[in-house]
Amino acid sequence: MSTIHLSLEEAHSLAMDCLLKNGCDEANARAAADRMIQAEGDLCHSHGLFRLPWYAGAVKSGRANGKAKPRVEQLAPAVIRVDGDGGFAPLAQEIAHQPLVDCARENGIASMALVNMFHIAAMWPEVEKLAMEGLCGFAFTASYPYVAPAGGSKPLYGTNPMGFSWPRKDKPPLVFDQASAAMARGEIMIAARDGHSVPETAGIGPDGEATTDPNVVLEGAQLGFGGYKGAALAMMVELLAGAMIGEFLSIESAEDDGGKGGPPKGGELMIAIDPARHGDPEGFLARGETLFEAILEQEGTRLPGARRFINRQKTPETGIEVPRSLHESILALM
Ligand code: NDP
Repeated sequence: MSTIHLSLEEAHSLAMDCLLKNGCDEANARAAADRMIQAEGDLCHSHGLFRLPWYAGAVKSGRANGKAKPRVEQLAPAVIRVDGDGGFAPLAQEIAHQPLVDCARENGIASMALVNMFHIAAMWPEVEKLAMEGLCGFAFTASYPYVAPAGGSKPLYGTNPMGFSWPRKDKPPLVFDQASAAMARGEIMIAARDGHSVPETAGIGPDGEATTDPNVVLEGAQLGFGGYKGAALAMMVELLAGAMIGEFLSIESAEDDGGKGGPPKGGELMIAIDPARHGDPEGFLARGETLFEAILEQEGTRLPGARRFINRQKTPETGIEVPRSLHESILALM
């Protein structure tokens, strides 16, 4: 694949210019560009510049509000709601952070419903930020229907990710962030493009039969990881980040988009817990380290999130490689 080399600063300017020229104001463009380049810096390309044409198209068509002014509302002592004003999630998430931290510190736990926004992407940036404040973070979001319910054969759940973070002293937080589907949608699409097979656990055909052909999975349905267990988690995410907060279920989000395949509109549920308020304020950090040390003593292990933190140290120096075709399609949008 032909690529071009960009520094993180160049990639950020490219994203900013593209968003500004397609109708975002400065605050919305900067927040979205920050998120994309944060993902690029961790070498999570599927949430980086790859998403930029999607964002530009959604704001240019008027579907997303490029001048959104998110609003924060306190619903109960430990419950906050953030209305994203129909804009992209990053600005709302940025504005939501401090109220959630303050509320969790005050109550020991706080929950936040983020609604009316486009494309809640990877979960790790927001949960990691909570752990940097000494809190545990949880985040959940639903998207478009790709995954069949356990025993079913038609797409119904999103690939519905969930993120979790735990604070560590003088170390990057422990963060995991994973879809409830067995395989990422993008990986199945890439396998289809490149003529590779996928594991039988990834999905089923329209007839409900197991297959290793990614094209057949894309016509049929993906499966949750670990069979019915992943499907149950996907269902939980639909309830928490859809039904409970008055936002779209994945099936409704697809209807709202009318099959155009733009960024999904929807919501996110975040929960922040202050571990220092749960009975062992002096000990919990050390107890976490006891667990991590025991894990890492075993050969072949690593902590979730470690890959990203290593990448993050390198990319400010090394920059990133961007597919030439993607770079050209971004330039064509300006
Ligand atoms: P992966 O399967 O790549 O990784 C899931 C988690 O497992 C990560 O925290 C990863 O850490 C960790 N991990 C991976 N390998 C190991 C290992 N050998 N030992 C210990 N931990 C490990 O993620 P997914 O494909 O499930 O999801 C990718 C991204 O896509 C996520 O950020 C997710 O939020 C996002 N997503 C977003 C959706 C949406 O609708 N918005 C839908 C689906 C996914 P590390 O990062 O260090 O590798």
